[in-house]
Amino acid sequence: MLLLESRPAVASESSAKSGAIVSDMVATPDDQRWVQRSRALFREAQSASGDQTMIREHGMLSLFPPSYQGQVAEHEGSLRERGIPVEVWSAEEIRRRFPELDRVAHPIFGVWTPRDWHVNPTAYAFAVLGMAKTLGLTVKLSYPVATLRVDDREVQLQGPNDTIHAARVLLATGTWTRKLLQTAGMDLPFRPYRTQLASLEFPSGYHLPIVRDMATDMYIVPDGPRNVLVGDGTQLWEHDPDAYRTTGDPEFEQSVAEGVMSLSSYGAQARLRRSWAGLCGATPDRRPLIGPVCDRVWVACGDNGFGIKRGPAIGEFAAEMALGMVPPSSHLSPHRYPNEDFTLRPGQGGSL
Ligand SMILES: Cc1cc2nc3c(=O)[nH]c(=O)nc-3n(C[C@H](O)[C@H](O)[C@H](O)COP(=O)(O)OP(=O)(O)OC[C@H]3O[C@@H](n4cnc5c(N)ncnc54)[C@H](O)[C@@H]3O)c2cc1C
Repeated sequence: MLLLESRPAVASESSAKSGAIVSDMVATPDDQRWVQRSRALFREAQSASGDQTMIREHGMLSLFPPSYQGQVAEHEGSLRERGIPVEVWSAEEIRRRFPELDRVAHPIFGVWTPRDWHVNPTAYAFAVLGMAKTLGLTVKLSYPVATLRVDDREVQLQGPNDTIHAARVLLATGTWTRKLLQTAGMDLPFRPYRTQLASLEFPSGYHLPIVRDMATDMYIVPDGPRNVLVGDGTQLWEHDPDAYRTTGDPEFEQSVAEGVMSLSSYGAQARLRRSWAGLCGATPDRRPLIGPVCDRVWVACGDNGFGIKRGPAIGEFAAEMALGMVPPSSHLSPHRYPNEDFTLRPGQGGSL
């Protein structure tokens, strides 16, 4: 088995740019199962690698305006049914638990999910690659596949200096998947869109969980003792993965500063370190595309902005499917929608 990666290291693209929140607050049974399985795979990789920093168990506080009460009750019920700890807090309770969130005021309320994590996707990918190599995987880094050609007998992958001949190919090429397939005359209902993240220096010794502000879609992720990551700055129109602005926009940086200040007076002491942008892959129903495009070419893409929390499980599932160990699922089929434009929709994890 052979892995081809265009960059000098794996997990250098969207996975490296991610906020990397792992949360059970996802809507569909598939997503719930994939998050659960991914958690087990993250744990396995952490213990195999001995890298104790791979998983950070910060817990997550999602902030809601009162209009969300119905949806929150639904999610709370679903979390409890699955045995996942969850608490609903008033603004007063939020300020008591996390004094830095001193500007959170009634009628805002919060959902506290203490089991939610921030992970290091690069560390995870390196650990898994190490394990896979011991099982016989060959890896070619700095190997961008320029084109695919498919015939009755094989798939030809045109690399920088040679052509690789394969019986079957699984494209886990993130937001490039559609472009690469198009070189073989095939297509997908798939549109890359842009989202942003900023790294802020924060007053040393702060005490914050992962925070999501559902009214604005902003999120804050603790990132070491003096640093936080803040997203999202999502731009819901199509971007070319080979030609988009990879640094954050000044308007995004401004909105991040205002957003943090609206929750915490400590935000006044924060300082922007840098900001960046990455792409996510949208599909018409916000489910991933997993399965065969033709007999010899399979895909696993369409993260819709929450592919870290489900990625390890989706990778495992897609590989098993491509190897014929599990049958393709019609509701995940890359052919379930026509290859035409569709409306891009925001949000991590479905209905919330
Ligand atoms: C700013 C931001 C914040 C995010 N926050 C979260 C979050 O909090 N939680 C969450 O769950 N998800 C989050 N996401 C989404 C998450 O990052 C993605 O869902 C995930 O990284 C997708 O992984 P992937 O392996 O499909 O794509 P990628 O990580 O982009 O990997 C695709 C790989 O394919 C390689 N490749 C592409 N084309 C070729 C080719 N022609 N030849 C060879 N190799 C090729 C690329 O080099 C790359 O290494 C966020 C994304 C962004 C951008």
